[in-house]
Amino acid sequence: MAGVRPQLFIGGQWRDAEGGKTLPVEDPSTGNVLVEVADASAADGVAALDAAVAVQSEWAATAPRDRGEILRSAFELITENTDDLAMLMTLEMGKPLSESKAEIGYGAEFFRWFSEEAVRIAGRYSVAPNGQTRLLTLKQPVGPCLMITPWNFPLAMGTRKIGPAIAAGCTMVVKPAQQTPLTMLRLADLLTEAGLPDGVLNVVTTSTTGDVMAPLIADPRLRKLTFTGSTPIGKKLIEQSAAGVLRVSMELGGNAPFLVFDDADLDRAVDGAMLAKMRNVGEACTAANRFIVHESVAEEFGRRLAERMGAMVVGRGTEEGVEVGPLIDKTQRDKVADLVDDALAKGATALTGGVRPDNDTYYPPTVLAGVRLDAQVATEEIFGPVAPIFTFAEEQEGIDMANDTEYGLVAYAFTQDHARVVRVYEGLDTGMVGINQGVVSNPAAPFGGMKSSGYGREGGAEGIEEYLETKYVGLAL
Ligand code: NAP
Repeated sequence: MAGVRPQLFIGGQWRDAEGGKTLPVEDPSTGNVLVEVADASAADGVAALDAAVAVQSEWAATAPRDRGEILRSAFELITENTDDLAMLMTLEMGKPLSESKAEIGYGAEFFRWFSEEAVRIAGRYSVAPNGQTRLLTLKQPVGPCLMITPWNFPLAMGTRKIGPAIAAGCTMVVKPAQQTPLTMLRLADLLTEAGLPDGVLNVVTTSTTGDVMAPLIADPRLRKLTFTGSTPIGKKLIEQSAAGVLRVSMELGGNAPFLVFDDADLDRAVDGAMLAKMRNVGEACTAANRFIVHESVAEEFGRRLAERMGAMVVGRGTEEGVEVGPLIDKTQRDKVADLVDDALAKGATALTGGVRPDNDTYYPPTVLAGVRLDAQVATEEIFGPVAPIFTFAEEQEGIDMANDTEYGLVAYAFTQDHARVVRVYEGLDTGMVGINQGVVSNPAAPFGGMKSSGYGREGGAEGIEEYLETKYVGLAL
């Protein structure tokens, strides 16, 4: 495949997996194999950690400005290569080219942001209350990190971790999702071109994920695990990390409520809903999962949203004009279709879509009205182009419904009443809130969740802290 080296990237070298083993990467819109990539063994995984450990001290001692300049160059290179990267991403992940380009812009921005943060790692100096000691507080890199990323944003879920780690002076082993490793392999090439020294970034692709990751997590030389993925796997990794008392960041699943109050500007609410629901074909942890709409505007909101979603062009992501690509695989497609069938069986009405097509991986944009709270869509992450509408009567009832989930990643709310805005964002149990907007992701802001959506923050001033230790020195006079 043009431009991609389908091998392991360890210590600055591209190499085959032990025994020459490979795993197939498929195009989700056709099921055809695009390319075979190296299928790492546990020994290959350890070799990657060896490489990261070998250069950790030297890398930590580099000038912050040099680390920042590498990130800045990588930002430029990603931007220059947007078209090629977007095609690669669309082929392996399925999303329309326009969505891939948007992700590349978003993902690259983390490198620009952290290139600026690299030179702002600060400490503190103070006089102890008794006046006899001076207190110095300094920040140092955590050490070698393991980064595990999902398939839904093949670039951005990596750059949100790699950017701050490089800025802080950490080395790393990255394990992309086996369904979408190509974008990450290409990124490794671009970071090398940007001047990243050998061994700072190592990339391992594997089909025996648990077996290859477990020895790394158990290795006392590893100092941090950062994971983006599903809550069940995240919980398992938290347990595994306990043995080595690793620093852990977890970006897990979501079940975002999208509140529309009776005073909302419905044009803005529908625009916001299109973004919150249809960005990345609904395969986003931030995707609106439950539309909680005031009973007085629910019918009008549902009608307008169904009109917009029903008019979207579904097809292969590489084709001009396509707005909705396939889902990642048949399993995900069937899960989405089963959730819709369950809601319909419990009395919901499909305002658009709702019918499982013959093709294995596609599902039409679907709006469901009159969804009951005992429908599975009320509690499960949909990860597809389906918008279920629930209704409420009183403000507090709407907020309570929004919070009635084990997840707490993001919530959206539409209202024009300023006092209500404050009550709503203070009352929501989520790490992020979008007010009158359907997208919250921003490299300059701390992205992350509460409850079963995880802990730790990516982006903003907080993002680099995840890769820094705080050390205090007591200096006697
Ligand atoms: P997943 O099944 O949990 O997989 C995520 C990553 O974990 C993949 O690289 C996967 O490797 C790896 N993995 C699987 N089993 C593992 C194990 N036993 N030990 C170590 N690693 C293991 O999640 P997904 O289906 O790819 O992604 C969708 C989920 O990610 C959704 O729940 C979504 O909400 C969440 N997500 C959260 C955020 C956020 O910022 N909060 C952002 C994006 C996505 P393989 O590919 O080999 O299975």
